[in-house]
Amino acid sequence: MFTEKFAVIGHPIEHSKSPVIHQAFASQFGKSISYEKLLSPLDGFSETLNRLHLEGYRGVNITVPFKFEAYEASHTLSDRATAAGAVNTLSFKDQQIIGDNTDGCGLVNDILKHWHRTIEGKQILLLGAGGAAQGVILPLLAQKPALLTVANRSLDKARTMVERFEAGAKSNQVKLAVQTFDNLAENYDIVINATSAGLQAEALPIKDVVFAHHTLAYDMMYGRETPFMQQARAAEAQVADGLGMLVEQAAEAFYIWHGLRPDTASVIQSFRQT
Ligand code: NDP
Repeated sequence: MFTEKFAVIGHPIEHSKSPVIHQAFASQFGKSISYEKLLSPLDGFSETLNRLHLEGYRGVNITVPFKFEAYEASHTLSDRATAAGAVNTLSFKDQQIIGDNTDGCGLVNDILKHWHRTIEGKQILLLGAGGAAQGVILPLLAQKPALLTVANRSLDKARTMVERFEAGAKSNQVKLAVQTFDNLAENYDIVINATSAGLQAEALPIKDVVFAHHTLAYDMMYGRETPFMQQARAAEAQVADGLGMLVEQAAEAFYIWHGLRPDTASVIQSFRQT
């Protein structure tokens, strides 16, 4: 039987859960796929990609640090990949490489489906202005929050990022604001940590006032309790990690490749139990 081939490319890659997630989705539909982890040399991403294309792979997911190179390598880009300026899902169709970004959709779906929160009309705080933050802004704006405040250590970077989304905010009637961490002085319905400070177990210089007991404090990191999560928990906010986002972004990639919507709750639950 012909087995469709997929892979995730990164550096490092050993930690990736994508093969397990995609195999779990495929088994829900009785599909047989191969899905590998591929460590690409840091200076060899385009060679790795060309090889997979020639070898007949159907698609690849892209993780750190190659999302920007994947964007450059794409012949066609979805609107959300263009807005994100980064690509995490590539499809090979004939001679074409089609780039998409499912990270933002993954975050929004996790918040709506698994944390049972609405974003429409709410006050949202997004911490960070790196690739992950940029990728989630358009899907967040599409949910029509009342306010989206972006705060970042480097304020200029946040300003430059936000400028790109002013038209999108206007058309969705969202108030878009930029702030420094230490000037944040009110509570939010949802606080999303899209910084990588948790990787070094560093706390962010934000005051407890941003968290109220009704706040969902969402850290995109998963697999460990970050200082952000600890602070939010101590302030009695509801705390979420990025595991659901990871599974939901994979589900959207699975849909792009197979046209099928897998059940994500059972996959998230199985990871939480292990
Ligand atoms: P980038 O390197 O592109 O951006 C890093 C961001 O974190 C910048 O805004 C940077 O601020 C900020 N930052 C880093 N260290 C600190 C610190 N000590 N204090 C304050 N701010 C800091 O990373 P990404 O955007 O790609 O990733 C961010 C996080 O999101 C990572 O932890 C990643 O694992 C996670 N992620 C999770 C996903 C999921 O599916 N769950 C998907 C994608 C990402 P400055 O601009 O000032 O340098």
